[in-house]
Amino acid sequence: MSRVGQGWDIHRLVEGGPLRLAGVDVPFDRSLLGHSDADVVLHALADALLGAVAAGDIGTHFPDTDPSLRGADSAVLLRQVVALLQARGHSIENVDVTVLAERPKLGPHFDRMRRRLADLLGVAVERVSLKAKSTEGLGAVGRGDAIAALAVALVS
Ligand code: MG
Repeated sequence: MSRVGQGWDIHRLVEGGPLRLAGVDVPFDRSLLGHSDADVVLHALADALLGAVAAGDIGTHFPDTDPSLRGADSAVLLRQVVALLQARGHSIENVDVTVLAERPKLGPHFDRMRRRLADLLGVAVERVSLKAKSTEGLGAVGRGDAIAALAVALVS
């Protein structure tokens, strides 16, 4: 049986880089603000994976009221989600992520990001898709105040 899950996340951009996205640091003069490291790509992916197996969401597993998670490396959280799926006998078929960002240009970093995501998910890089879109200047993302991410995951 195959199961699909979807996730999304958004975090506010604040002064001071680098920008942590998809588990890598991107040179930029702004970074994402959150209780953890606010990596929207990893958060959206974690929610997609948890959704695929109907195991709640990132907020139930890693509540932002937990002081031990302040500034947490989201890669550690995503690895825990992957371990949860593996413990239940699931394997990840593929994931597809769209990042919504006005700046910076992310294309030059995609190879590094995909390799990092594949490593965190324990799958071949060919199973990891990453895309970026601007929002044509519209809304919080378009103003450069936030970055959002959408993810789907297929799990068997
Ligand atoms: Mg988040």
